Amino acid sequence: MAHAVKELFPDTKFAIGPAIQGGFYYDFDCDHAFTQEDLPRIEEKMKEIIKANKPFVRKEMPKGEAVKFFQERGETYKVELINEIADETVSLYEEGNFIDLCRGPHLESAGKVKAFKLLSVAGAYWRGDEKNKMLQRIYGVSFPTKDELKKHLEFLEEVKKRDHRRLGKELDLFSMNDDIGSGLVLWHPRGATIRRAIESFWLDEHYKSGYQILYTPHMAKLDLWKKTGHLDFYRENMYSPMEIEGLDYEIKPMNCPFHVYIFKSQLRSYRDLPLRFAELGTVYRYERSGVLHGLLRVRGFTQDDAHIFCREDQIENEVLKVLEFTLFILATFGFSDYDIYLSTRPEKYVGTEEAWKKATDALQQALTHKGLKYEIDPGEGVFYGPKIDIKVRDSLGRQWQCSTIQVDFNIPERLDITYRGADSKDYRPIMIHRALMGSLERFFGVLIEHYAGAFPLWLSPVQLSLLTISDRHVEYCRSIMDSLIKEGIRVDMDGENEKIGYKIRKAAVLKTPYMCIIGDKELENNIVNIRKRNGENVGEMSVEKLIAFLKDEISNRRKS
Ligand code: ZN
Repeated sequence: MAHAVKELFPDTKFAIGPAIQGGFYYDFDCDHAFTQEDLPRIEEKMKEIIKANKPFVRKEMPKGEAVKFFQERGETYKVELINEIADETVSLYEEGNFIDLCRGPHLESAGKVKAFKLLSVAGAYWRGDEKNKMLQRIYGVSFPTKDELKKHLEFLEEVKKRDHRRLGKELDLFSMNDDIGSGLVLWHPRGATIRRAIESFWLDEHYKSGYQILYTPHMAKLDLWKKTGHLDFYRENMYSPMEIEGLDYEIKPMNCPFHVYIFKSQLRSYRDLPLRFAELGTVYRYERSGVLHGLLRVRGFTQDDAHIFCREDQIENEVLKVLEFTLFILATFGFSDYDIYLSTRPEKYVGTEEAWKKATDALQQALTHKGLKYEIDPGEGVFYGPKIDIKVRDSLGRQWQCSTIQVDFNIPERLDITYRGADSKDYRPIMIHRALMGSLERFFGVLIEHYAGAFPLWLSPVQLSLLTISDRHVEYCRSIMDSLIKEGIRVDMDGENEKIGYKIRKAAVLKTPYMCIIGDKELENNIVNIRKRNGENVGEMSVEKLIAFLKDEISNRRKS
């Protein structure tokens, strides 16, 4: 691609062009502003180069010589890069009349490239620094066969269709507004209904699993965050403090210390443990505007947070319980494919090495006990303890980080919490932090893409749409609606004076799971005729039977 760009735009300067997870890119400094329309032209030139099938020849050059070589060609970016390479010599690759700095390796010759596609153009600062010049980046992808390329392009099409930002708008689920601020989410009624359904499921299951539910404030004194160590280890993600009556307060980036103070509010005995405190706790974290992305990376979000306080001999069993609970919750949302990672001690950490080892062993034993496969992520633990991360695979096979389970030997020490043992001595409890969905915002974003906006019945903002054929059916329709609402079914009615085909399309755009068309036949026989959002006919039934049919699917949380 770089060779083709050089042929077509000889004045272009070349920056960097690596292979990345989704293909490759190259950053160019060029007076011509690239657009999507330029890509076919560059592709044509690339095909010529491939056809010529010139070999890629590796050349080693002393650094000084390479600097001179690129200086003469006006390749200032390359000169900068070479000056930072520690080795005595650098390697260059030559193909036809094109030569570039490259570590290699390469294919033998250009003709080995069998299938490729240029995907998009974007702006990118030199070295990702906004103080530097904005360069132009062209993204592309290449595969060994045309068939694999075709499959990948179809996948990209599907990804585009499922983009939660696009579906969020089309389905009227959420929005963000510049007047309010970046990364702050407005949940619209339809999105809020889905969130409420998730939350009540979450609450019910937590009570069933022996958790107690808490509410805590959105801010606390700055001194608290000094005590916990957050100010030392987490400052870059925290907002500036605000002053109230001469004291500094900080909006909370985490819920943990609040739960600790509830633990501390009374004398705890060894018999009280484990104590499991859970909260849908809203936190605020500083993220650079450049990394914000729809619902997936935001500045204000609600964690499905919990803290388990237990004795050392209870850690393994508690982690095991959390693992089982997590997998159950994830499976309910249709995630049965996941990758598990165990993250160990990072460079910046608190606590003793012995404490870290104990915690890591407990996590490892719980995973082994459950027979779960996992990978070790060395040095990726949080500053206060090791953790297990569970990344789910969605219906397209994409990986998303959701659940996390973290053992903490640190905060109990710092905030000095204890429980009274059987021997009447005081002991330090172990604290386990865990979130199953991660944050509701992010999880919602993942769900939208996972279901492509076609939510299962129990989550759908509107579960059934009643569509009248003409005005004389409105009254009967309204009586059905009243019966359904009384049963807690989310139903709406389209009694407008419009063609039925149009009404069906409207409900289909909103991906409403079921529709009932109400006409003369239904009115006369006191029945409904129910169909699915994909057009499939379920059949005729009485209103009583309809209610039972819907309630069964809702309570089983099946995917319609
Ligand atoms: Zn926590």
